[in-house]
Parts: sequence; structure tokens; C-alpha cells
Amino acid sequence: MHHRSRSCKLLGVAIAAVLGLGLGIPSALAAPAADTDPVPGLVAGSDTDAPQLVTGLAERASGATPGEAARAHLAAHRDRYRVDPAQLVESGTERAADGRRTVRFAQRHGGLPVFGSTYLVHLVGEGDGQRVESVGGKYFTGLTAPTAQSVPDEVLRRLALGAVEDPAAREGATAEDRGLVVLPGGAGRLARHFTVRGTGAAAGAPKAREVFVDATAGGVALSYEVRAPSPSGMPGASPAAGAVGAAGAVEPATGTAPDAFGRPAPVNIGRLPDGSYQLTDLTRPAVITTYDAQGGEEMDYSGGLPDGARPAASPSPDFPASTGTSGATDAHLNAAAVDDFYRTRLGRAGIDGKNGPITSVVNVTSFGAPLDNAYWDGRKMIYGGGSGTYHPFSAARDVAGHEMTHGVVEHTAGLVYAGQSGALDEALADYFGNAIEVTSRGIPMTDPRAALLGESLCRTGTPESCAFRRLDDHRTTVADYIGAPAGVDNGGVHLNSTIVGGALWDIRRTLDPLTADRLVHRALAEYLTPLDGFVDARNAVLAAGRALGLDRAQLRAVAGAFDAHGIKEGWQRRIGLDSRPLLRELTTESIAPDAAAGRWVAATAGKGNKGSLAVYAGAVAGSAEPTRLSPEDGRSHGWPATDGTSAAWVAMGPWGTEVFARPLDGGPARSVHSVANQYLSDVRISGGDVAFLAGDYTAVSTGPVLSRDGAPAVAIPLPDGHSASDLALKDGLLAWTESWSSGERTVSAPTVYSIAAGRVVAQYPAGDAADTSATRAGATRLAGGRLLWVETPEDPARGSSIRSGALDGSGTTVVLAGGTAEPRRITSLTATDRAVTFGYAGGRVGGGMKNTDLPKLWQLPLAGGTPERVSCNRGGQYAPVADRGTRVLWLDATAGRTDLVVRERAAGTC
Ligand SMILES: [Zn+2]
Repeated sequence: MHHRSRSCKLLGVAIAAVLGLGLGIPSALAAPAADTDPVPGLVAGSDTDAPQLVTGLAERASGATPGEAARAHLAAHRDRYRVDPAQLVESGTERAADGRRTVRFAQRHGGLPVFGSTYLVHLVGEGDGQRVESVGGKYFTGLTAPTAQSVPDEVLRRLALGAVEDPAAREGATAEDRGLVVLPGGAGRLARHFTVRGTGAAAGAPKAREVFVDATAGGVALSYEVRAPSPSGMPGASPAAGAVGAAGAVEPATGTAPDAFGRPAPVNIGRLPDGSYQLTDLTRPAVITTYDAQGGEEMDYSGGLPDGARPAASPSPDFPASTGTSGATDAHLNAAAVDDFYRTRLGRAGIDGKNGPITSVVNVTSFGAPLDNAYWDGRKMIYGGGSGTYHPFSAARDVAGHEMTHGVVEHTAGLVYAGQSGALDEALADYFGNAIEVTSRGIPMTDPRAALLGESLCRTGTPESCAFRRLDDHRTTVADYIGAPAGVDNGGVHLNSTIVGGALWDIRRTLDPLTADRLVHRALAEYLTPLDGFVDARNAVLAAGRALGLDRAQLRAVAGAFDAHGIKEGWQRRIGLDSRPLLRELTTESIAPDAAAGRWVAATAGKGNKGSLAVYAGAVAGSAEPTRLSPEDGRSHGWPATDGTSAAWVAMGPWGTEVFARPLDGGPARSVHSVANQYLSDVRISGGDVAFLAGDYTAVSTGPVLSRDGAPAVAIPLPDGHSASDLALKDGLLAWTESWSSGERTVSAPTVYSIAAGRVVAQYPAGDAADTSATRAGATRLAGGRLLWVETPEDPARGSSIRSGALDGSGTTVVLAGGTAEPRRITSLTATDRAVTFGYAGGRVGGGMKNTDLPKLWQLPLAGGTPERVSCNRGGQYAPVADRGTRVLWLDATAGRTDLVVRERAAGTC
């Protein structure tokens, strides 16, 4: 339920941003004034010419099937929808209880699926009276991406495994190939999709990531953690089939079983041919079966069921006490309560809408420890058996309802579990989990505890202190949206969920609950599509309200609830920032910008660009538009650097990797170096010198390469077994972090190399045999006539320090002491001859729950002093780059997107 990410990844890509989708800020083109009709008539799409939503239609539609009628309608109105019917594959038609049909289409590009694309046509009436009532979704009109893979499978697989940053988790990880897809956004991007599963105990839990690797340029294009470790679609034994098979020989019966608190409850059970009984409920169209893992490992149960797994059993219809303490009785009853809610209240045929079996497994453990969690694994419920802190997780009906609703979302909108669409998934799960509990237990919405989630799970403490979320927390987008990058909580899927979940809950309090439940379910089942954001959700709910026949006052109340939570067009622009934007909506946070002498360079795929990743340049002062430096040749151009006069960068394409250089003020781009089978990174430029790191795809080590004044690039040899990272280049000096193995430990040494002398002139090893505390050095920089770097002890109780060393190797000074009082783990460093700027996350690593837990930038004088906050922007701040003086540029995620921004001096205290 908590799904807290244990990942330490601090940089990543924001899902909507990497896809260039404008993060769900569609602009209403022809929306009537809000006081006359709160439902928008036409909502333009973002990064596409196809509209996001067209409502209020009543156009005749004929065809032998709903799918044919819908397709004919789209074909007849190509000028309106800009959708090419030849690129649409019908992916299903659902008929609601009132006869409405929703026809779903998925987009293809060159025969390949387009990630997240879904276009919907809603039909009402029958026979000759059949009409199209509304149309919308996400269809991308700008796709021109190649459809042939040019990077070998094995390279793509290795890059996918590399997305698991924790080496312990990477060990033993597997990458399941899910085939080629086209990622939308601008021209699109051909990617091979892998589901990467880590099975290492060091990871602390089974983890799975969806990883999309660029299939023409290499590099991870998109990566996010899967909500449950075993998503649907995984091959293997189906628990559903097992449950049905078992039920075939079982007769329905009734009995009693104690619940988790020892109270007897009537249960629907099954009688086996041998006269014994098991927890199988055969009284409803969807068979409910509950297994007791008896403390077994969750890995053995998630995805499938181990051989010999049996439903919780009893020799008589009166089940023993263990059926209660394991959580089996509660899981069984709560599965029925969830099914009842969806079936009788909303007319839904079970979780999958097809009366598929509903299976629960209780009392699992995780690597021998209690699993204080519960989740829908894509096919069934998995519950932890409780601990000294918590009751069995199946005992909370809202938790059961929340997790099973994730199953409903999978079978309807299919929301992508990252960023705003992921927060929407969480919000819907919270809404229905809460609604199922309060409805089935008769709790009025006015009860002070009605908005709490998971409040009954703790063995001690008040419900308020136990609840992990509450839907009456009144959070708004503008005041409370947490600017989390993709690596933190999948871009804030839990951190931001109550902003929209709270709006839905307010609708439930304002309208009558039954109307609200039907409204939100209709929006989920018929209007939402996988990449939808908060504003899309608002429009979906309003469109569903019109379809349900809500009157104008009710629709206004719905719009008012979204308004109250700040969910309206353009909310991201209203978040206060103390920095100045230079380039908005970058498509990645994982490619650092660079700056020098008042000029900057950055890489982004941008909105509406032809081609993929491109390098842009601009001036820090003035208002001139950024200019594009890289050619439009179908390759990915990124990882740029500048010395204020020229820029250098790397291009990756099917035929290899190439380093380019080009003057900022015009002139042709020149090729510095081109290779077929090497990985090039850390490009740097200074005067006529261009340097970079090169390594084979298969090699563990990389080394510096230098091109002087346009001459062919020459590798600088390192001692055997040594490798370089963190390259710096300035005024005839190269610097890097050199690392090598020394016995059991790795030595890392900030190193200075004189280009004129052709040799290393300074080296300051950290972590050698004399270092008993295992310290790593990194982030080498050249500034102010010194070498700077960060030293970070492995011991997390001790913080990183910033050091500087003389360029002739004659000694070091401490710029910022490490210490234990505030153990900063510094993740970034940049400097000028006046100021040093560094970044670190102030709070819990990886599991940030507040904006204050996300990385912030700090600055202090080069000679040392007290660090001050660079900016009071409340979200994540990444990849700082010092320009001159105290001026710093960085990538800022405060507004839920990534912008390149600048400040002239530190803000001080915030
Ligand atoms: Zn959830």
C-alpha cells in the first residue's frame, strides 16, 4: 500500500516530460464560459493536432459493429480529429449498464504500438438511432520516428539492466523483452521495452521496472518502477486457472470464520469432495478464493502460485482461529465487499469487468521478515500477515479496496504508473478504497474519520496517527504539488495523489455518494487514457457527468471541487519560483546543462521538434530565443559542454557515436571524433581543446581522449586496471577521478593532467589502504586555480566533504567539512573562482515525502564558509552548473516539469 521507493536514484526522467506531452495542460479552444456550461466542448491536445476531448456531439454513426461505426466516424471527420484510421487498432469495446458503448483504439506507427496512446469513441442509442456522443484521448499526429532497430539486442538489454542503479539489486536481475514500441512526444522515439526484475535480497523486496531503451541511439529513454513487482502479462502459472479448476469440484456452502480480531463472521465457503471446506465463495459470478501462504515468501506467490498452494482450509465449516490471525477471513470478506460495491452499485462485472476470478493470498513474508504492505500483483491480492506494529493488512477494507481498484484501473484506463498519471492511479485507488469502506460499513461522509485511509491497521495509536493518507487534507496543485523527479516515488505518485484524490472526495461529500461513485467510475472506465494528467482528469470527470445526465448545478459543483484543489488549466505556471527560466520543459533531468561566460547549452527533445534529442544554446542575459546547435540528422544529440565561445556534444545514431564542436555564434559543426563501437561521455571544451571519456560497450573501464586544435583525438593512457570518470577541462589542464582496485577496496583519486607536459601533475587518492573508513572521491572540477572534489564516506552517519587541492599536487584544504552533525550526501558540485555550489537531498534518501526531502542547492565561498541556499524553489534542484561569480544555472523540477533556470546569487535562508 505504501509502495515507498527504496531506490536511491536521484536523477531520472519525468514521464510526461520525456514524452514531450506538456504535462497535461491542454488549452481549451472552444470551451464555453464556465458559468454557462462547466463541461468543455473541445479541449485541444498537447503536442498533437488530435483533440484531447470533444463532447456534446449527436452525430449518426452506422456500422455492423460499434468498432466499425466508430472508425467510420473518425474517417468521416479527419479534418476535426486529425486521426488516421489506418493507424488505429481496435483494442476493445465496453458496454455500460445503460447501453453506452466505449470503443477503444490504440495507435500504431509503422505497425508498432505507440506507448500510452488510446483514442476513444462513445456511442449511444441503438440501430438507426446510434450516435457518437463524444470522442477523445491521446493520438499523436507528429510521429516520424524510424521503426527499424539499429542497436543490437544485447546492447539494449545491457542498457536496460543498467537502469537498476543499485549494484546489489542489479545482480541477478532479469530483463524480459516486451518488444519495440514508439514513445510519443515530438517526432517520437523508437524504443525496446524491457521489464527488469530484481530478485536480490539486498534490494529488500522484489522490484520491477519498466525500461524503454532507445533502439536507434542507445540510452534509457524512459524508466519507472512498476507498482506491483509482478505486472500482468507475465508468463507462468495463472492463479485464476488454478482457482477455477479447484472450484469445479467444490460445492457452495456457508460457515463461520473468526476475523483478524477474533470475532466470528459468516463466510461463503466451498465443500470439497472429501468433506472438508475451503475459502472459496461460489455465490457470485466472479469466484472468490483466498489462500493462506502461512508465512511463505512473497516472491513465491507474486505472479503465480507455487505448486501445491491450497486455499485456506478447515475440516469443518467452522474455520479455526488461524484463519483469522492469518488475515484469510478478512481478505475473503473484503474481496466480496469490493466485488459487491463494483457489481451492485456500479454495474461492473468484477475487477476485470469480465467476471474473472478474484484471488487473495494472505500471510506472506518478504525475505524472512514481515511484509508490512499489500498489493495487487496484476492478477491477485497479496497481503502481509502483520507484525508487532500492524494487524494483517487484509484487515483494512479500504486497503483491500485501494489495491483491488488498481486492478480495475489496469483493466480500464491503464494509467501509466509515473508522474501525474501515476498520482491519478493512486487517487482513484484511494477514492474507491475509501468509498467501499465507508459505504459497506455505513460510515457517513461527515464522520471526522471518514477521510482516513488505512487508519485501522496499527496495533497501537489513534486512527489519525495510523492513517497513511487522508482525503480531506485540502492540498492544492499550486501550494502543495511536490516537484519530485522520476527517481523519487516514480515522480510523486503517492506524494501528489491526494491533490486530485481530495477533489474526488470533495465531490463525494458535495453530491450524494452514489452519484459521485457512478461519476468517478464512469470517468475511469470510459474517459481516462494511460497518459492523462490532473487537468485531463478534471475534463474526463466533467464529460462523464454530462454523459450521466448531471444537471448544471451538479456539474458546477464538480468543477468547483477541482477549482478548490487548483486543478485547472495552467496551474503549473502559477507556482511561485525565485529563479528565471532559460529553457522550459526539458525532456530529461539526466543530461546536465553547461554554462560559461554568460552562455549556456542544454539538451532536450523539446515539444514539437523534428528528430529526437537536440542541443540548444542561449545567453543567460537578454531575451533572445535559444538556438539549436545540432543538425537534424535523425540522431540523438546530447551531453553538451561549452567554454562560452564554442560548444561540444555527443551524437548517437545507428552507425555509431560522434563528438561534434561548433561555435556558439554560428559556423558549421565539425566532427571531432567518430567511433562505431564505443560509448563516449563527459565531453568538455576549452579553447581549441575537446576532451571526452571513451569506453567499449563491454569494457568496465573508460579513459580520457583529447583532441587539440582540430587534430585527431588521441587517448591518454592510464595504468592497467585504472578507469576515469568526472572529466574536467580548463586552460590546458584535464582533471578526472581515477579509480582502481587495491586489494579488497577501490581507490578513487582526483587527478590533474597537464596537456602541455603530457603527464599527471597532481593526484590525491582517497580510500587507499590507509583509509580505514572507505571513502569515495568524485565530482572533480577545475576552478579558481584549484582542483575541487567531493569525498563521501561509505558510513552513512558521516557526511560528504568538499576538498580542494593545489594543481601541482602540493596539498589539500577542506572547503566544507563532512562531520556527523548533518551528514550531507552531496550529489553534485560546481564552482567558479569565487563560489562553490553543491546539491544534496536533505531528508530521507529515496523515500522523500515532502518537498524538503528533495535535493536542494547550496553555495559557499571558494575559500570556505557557511553554505547558503541558492534558491528557495521548493521542488527538486538538479545538475547545477556555475557560470561566473555567484551565478548558477540548474534543472528545476518544482513545477512538476523540468526547466533550465538561473539565479545571480544565493537566496540565503529560505
Ligand atoms: Zn496504491
